[in-house]
Amino acid sequence: MSLKDKVAMVTGAASGIGRECALHMAKEGAAIVIADLNLDGANSVAREIEAMGGKAIGVSMDVTNEDQVNAGIEEAVAKLGSIDVLVSNAGIQIVHPIEEFPFADWKKMLSIHLDGAFLTTQAAIKHMYASGRGGSIIYMGSVHSHEASKLKSAYVTAKHGLLGLARVVAKEGAERNVRSYVVCPGFVKTPLVEKQIPEQAKSLGISEEEVVKNVMLGQTADGIFTTTDDVASVVTFLAGFPTAALTGQSFIVSHGWYMQ
Ligand code: NAD
Repeated sequence: MSLKDKVAMVTGAASGIGRECALHMAKEGAAIVIADLNLDGANSVAREIEAMGGKAIGVSMDVTNEDQVNAGIEEAVAKLGSIDVLVSNAGIQIVHPIEEFPFADWKKMLSIHLDGAFLTTQAAIKHMYASGRGGSIIYMGSVHSHEASKLKSAYVTAKHGLLGLARVVAKEGAERNVRSYVVCPGFVKTPLVEKQIPEQAKSLGISEEEVVKNVMLGQTADGIFTTTDDVASVVTFLAGFPTAALTGQSFIVSHGWYMQ
């Protein structure tokens, strides 16, 4: 088990990609901290992991709130002993054409994706340095860390920003054995994407079937959605990767939608 004796925190793990990352890393032996706005959901994933024979706790956390982030990390370290892996995954989507994008929505998007990544990194990395064990910090980027789409100015800006943060963490963290990565999924059918299908159909004036076939999957090699399992497998591999050989890199998991 590649993550035996490690503690991994996943933000936004009550649902979707984060939940799958938590389950995969638990199978590899990590104790898991499920940090989410939705505490009931987080506790329910923790119970799933315990039912598989693993160890997990749910923690209530809004990743945009500095006090809640710091308290959540302290609670995790107090209960489980360390933080060795951080998966900064919590995220939302809001789509509008630029000329209609409400400034409040723009700020909300940047806050969840970028402030959340910064605050959780700052709180976790202090423990990774202090323990002398180092660790891995994995940001949930997107194909939109490398590519643009209409209506997604805030999301594309935020996801590109994570590449910069990860590269700085790679440089600052290397001396103390902290590695960083960005995992960049294509479209994965989670609640976040289900919500976008009717919204995009309306904004683009096309049917929901056309949104899926042409907008979401049109550029893939095989015409199928990326799965939570695809993404969690890559995250788990990176979480357990033992050296800094891959630090600072992004990994695109998109069924050939975007090839670097
Ligand atoms: P999801 O909606 O299934 O899950 C998101 C989780 O984040 C929820 O449990 C929600 O409660 C939590 N969350 C939202 N705001 C939060 C906050 N402020 N603090 C703490 N938790 C919060 O979404 P998902 O599709 O699993 O997306 C997870 C990540 O993957 C996001 O960063 C998203 O941008 C990224 N991503 C998703 C796709 C996709 O196609 N689904 C593709 C590329 C990247």
